[in-house]
Amino acid sequence: MNALEAQLDYPFDDTIPAPGTVHDVLPGLRWARMPLPFALDHINVWLLEDDIEERRGWSLVDTGAGTDATRAAWEHVLADGLAGQPLVRVIATHCHPDHVGLSGWLTERFDAPFWTTTGEFGFMRMMAAALPGVDGPSAIPHFERHGLVDVSMLEQMRSRRNYYPSLVPLVPESYTRLQDGQGVSIGGNAWRVITGFGHSPEHASLYCAALNVLVSGDMVLPRISTNVSVFAVEPEGNPLQLYLDSLSTFADLPADVLVLPSHGKPFRGLHTRIAQLREHHVARLTEVIAACATPQSAMDIVPLMFRRPLDAHQLSFALGEALAHLHKLWYDGELRRIKGNDGVVRFQQISH
Ligand SMILES: [Zn+2]
Repeated sequence: MNALEAQLDYPFDDTIPAPGTVHDVLPGLRWARMPLPFALDHINVWLLEDDIEERRGWSLVDTGAGTDATRAAWEHVLADGLAGQPLVRVIATHCHPDHVGLSGWLTERFDAPFWTTTGEFGFMRMMAAALPGVDGPSAIPHFERHGLVDVSMLEQMRSRRNYYPSLVPLVPESYTRLQDGQGVSIGGNAWRVITGFGHSPEHASLYCAALNVLVSGDMVLPRISTNVSVFAVEPEGNPLQLYLDSLSTFADLPADVLVLPSHGKPFRGLHTRIAQLREHHVARLTEVIAACATPQSAMDIVPLMFRRPLDAHQLSFALGEALAHLHKLWYDGELRRIKGNDGVVRFQQISH
């Protein structure tokens, strides 16, 4: 949680749309909130009034997870929240299940095109098919290599083979490509795609200068820090560096831009929040390097970074995030990497 939240401005105060309802952020821009079956219990989705090839309706950004609770909330929004008009396009910021879980269901229902980046579309298709390398069991040797020995945790992770497909039961088979810097006309307004990295393969945020609005997806969140993990499919990755570099791409946006995040409430204070996130990671990196006076595995680092009990779902992200911090320091030349006789990888400070 962000202790510095008071530095941000929430223009709608504590207003949050109840499940199945919408809230007008601006004329023609509506906010709905979908339930999630996790500790993080919601995702925001955004509806933008649109007109594509004579078809009037709404472009939707992100869908919610493919659960019965989300489908039920959507039935209410579709019946009462959209002035009787259809979805004419579904845009995905990125491939995570809370963002694309109902992308197949909604695009089929409305015969609407699906827009996202190539990186996200590819990973979404790979994970929906539970291909080896991105399914649950593939994480096991990766996590063992980084110090996880708890048999019951490993067993729970092994049993998560169908985690992604269970939350994303149907995916669109084709897409329209979004690329960095591309202009997208939505409801007569020009929006610009800003791609970001480190959280997902090719995350798309959307910025509209005329409305002074940024749909930030998961790249900038007001209350929690974006998960940045080294996963089994890219074991040598440096996602924390990618993420920190990506934050710089928001530097030229106005200080008073209204940020519409996927989790939490709409806020102003983009540059303040980015500075907070940078400070958060610098503090974590400082703690990690100090701990590595003696060799530490990623699993050794987890309790340092997450001072609370973690279930298997949370641990898989926590371990990935601990490794992301270790990898950045390793790539920066601050740590050396040692593989022990026990097969576990540990990192140790290099004295300069
Ligand atoms: Zn995400």
